[in-house]
Amino acid sequence: MADSRIVAGARAEDDVQYEAGLRPRLLDEYIGQDRIRENLQVSIAAAKQRSEPLDHVLLHGPPGLGKTTLAYAIGNEMGVQVRATSGPAIEKPGDLVGIITNLAAGDVLFIDEIHRMSPAVEEILYPALEDYEVDIVIGQGPGARTVKMRLEPFTLIGATTRTGLLTSPLRSRFGITHRLEFYTARDLEAIIGRSAGILGVPIEPAAAAEVARRARGTPRIVNRLLRRVRDYAQVRAGGTITVDVARAALALLEVDEHGFDETDRRLLRTIIEKFGGGPVGLGTIAAAISEEKDAIEDIYEPFLIQIGFLDRTPRGRVATPRAYGYFGLQAPGRDSRLW
Ligand code: ADP
Repeated sequence: MADSRIVAGARAEDDVQYEAGLRPRLLDEYIGQDRIRENLQVSIAAAKQRSEPLDHVLLHGPPGLGKTTLAYAIGNEMGVQVRATSGPAIEKPGDLVGIITNLAAGDVLFIDEIHRMSPAVEEILYPALEDYEVDIVIGQGPGARTVKMRLEPFTLIGATTRTGLLTSPLRSRFGITHRLEFYTARDLEAIIGRSAGILGVPIEPAAAAEVARRARGTPRIVNRLLRRVRDYAQVRAGGTITVDVARAALALLEVDEHGFDETDRRLLRTIIEKFGGGPVGLGTIAAAISEEKDAIEDIYEPFLIQIGFLDRTPRGRVATPRAYGYFGLQAPGRDSRLW
């Protein structure tokens, strides 16, 4: 049985400590995403020259691509503190007021999964972002009054897997918006080389390439696979990760040449076998394979679409001829398809 956490974007508990040591601290250590890095370098240098906080930044893209890492790197480049929280963690407006009133001038407030913030909390954020002000309600009932409180100028960095879920007033408050792309195999090789160096694991370049190829374009997955392959090398081989060791370890993990795990295969097979290749709605697929709709949309689909195995059409999801080919099947003729 494949370990679905290898693919799942959710941050498993045991990853947190491990990832902390591998997380690049500065933009120069951040591999790939060159255009974003260059743009940010310009914005940061300009803000520093003017002695102003950086404009609010929205980072979006699938999980594990380095949004949190980028937020901390921005804070380090600006030489300020980063206060991190997440949309679901801010339960009440008062929680957010507590956080933003404690920020020092120029600090970065990082809100992960910002699309999951409640509307009441979001309301607090608008004047804070625009005028560095917050309305505080004092007292209760008819005697309650609102007091405006000044805040130190700060930078909000929001991260989301899907900008579509952000309300448009919130989206419009970000001066800088960047979409993170899946990484190239070459970038992932560089990341695995760097991580192996930090962990002190000997790895052959060809083995690094092999693992990188199967990491779904995602740094978190490449680091996770490295850790599993390292275990295998330690227990079943002499400790060095050679190509053969990497292949054997990945085969044991049931991570195939595309980096697919059991869920990817089930998803594609279901569309092909149960729904004639599609189009089929997301809710129907989710029910058929017993997965959360959100997990499919956030974690599995983006990569399958990126590598051309899946199409998202207005009528639903469609398996492409490549997906058929993967299972050794012949796609039905285009005429019989609705695309
Ligand atoms: P996200 O916030 O988008 O889910 P993270 O920032 O938590 O992703 O990144 C996951 C892990 O991947 C980090 O701990 C870091 O070790 C690694 N990572 C991400 N981006 C890069 C990068 N550009 N270069 C090197 N390592 C990276």
